[in-house]
Amino acid sequence: MRIVVLIKQVPDMEKVKFNSEKGIVDRASAGTEINPFDLNALEAALVIKEIIGAEVVALTMGPPKAEEALREAIARGADKAVLISDKYFGGSDTKATSHVISSGIKRLGNFHLIIAGEKTVDGDTGQVGAQVSDYLDIPYITYVSRIEEVSESVIRSVSEIWGGEYLKEMKLPGLITVTKDINTPRLPSFKQKMASRKAEIIRLSYEDLKEYFSSDEVGIKGSPTWVSKIEVPEVIKREGKIYRDDIDAGLETILHIIAEERI
Ligand SMILES: Cc1cc2nc3c(=O)[nH]c(=O)nc-3n(C[C@H](O)[C@H](O)[C@H](O)COP(=O)(O)OP(=O)(O)OC[C@H]3O[C@@H](n4cnc5c(N)ncnc54)[C@H](O)[C@@H]3O)c2cc1C
Repeated sequence: MRIVVLIKQVPDMEKVKFNSEKGIVDRASAGTEINPFDLNALEAALVIKEIIGAEVVALTMGPPKAEEALREAIARGADKAVLISDKYFGGSDTKATSHVISSGIKRLGNFHLIIAGEKTVDGDTGQVGAQVSDYLDIPYITYVSRIEEVSESVIRSVSEIWGGEYLKEMKLPGLITVTKDINTPRLPSFKQKMASRKAEIIRLSYEDLKEYFSSDEVGIKGSPTWVSKIEVPEVIKREGKIYRDDIDAGLETILHIIAEERI
């Protein structure tokens, strides 16, 4: 069985600074880490590998620096790592990102399951998983918090959505996105960390993938989303008043608000 885990390198959101003048995240102001949800995705793949045997491939699209995230994935137990990187891909929105990622997966060939995080802590759209499956024309299940059964041809998993649990069965090849509740990611050992420094990283550039798209379909040109403005929303303070003894006065106030607000 072959499992591809989608990993994004993100800035440490606890430390990163926001440049309010330019309206952008100042990525140089903080270190980077693997998107926390993607560590859950990797852990889910490693558990499957332990139980039924699998080759786990960590894949990222990002700048050359994203290689660090892949080395960490190898240190945690991934068998292979793929870095998709090229200046042509800079400025990609989620659509262009998904187009490139799915092309990279096509290029790698045979796979059974793709596991992505539910969302990232920086972009936070939760769109890439579903869009990758669309480009690959395979089914997907989102918000997976438990895997009940998995083989090369089928997966049964539980998704938690709005307080409800949904047991779903999907034919593979397919894609799932996982929540934080699915597991607790393992830490790499010192020995694994050392070994990961020398591990080979498979690199894919625009040249390697151009059979799947034209240069107009990726990067800024291939991104229909444009950001008109970024701002930190104003925090609106809420006020409340408690009526304990004078219930009639409380009732009158509520009726007055309802009338005034035309509810
Ligand atoms: C107009 C525009 C321009 C942009 N320009 C840039 C830019 O120049 N540089 C830049 O870094 N970002 C840029 N972005 C942001 C970029 O589009 C998003 O970071 C990217 O598409 C992922 O979206 P997300 O973070 O919302 O991921 P989500 O959809 O929330 O992620 C869900 C899951 O998908 C997987 N995933 C997401 N991204 C990747 C990835 N890159 N590789 C592998 N797996 C992934 C992970 O498993 C993740 O948990 C731009 C966005 C817009 C709208």
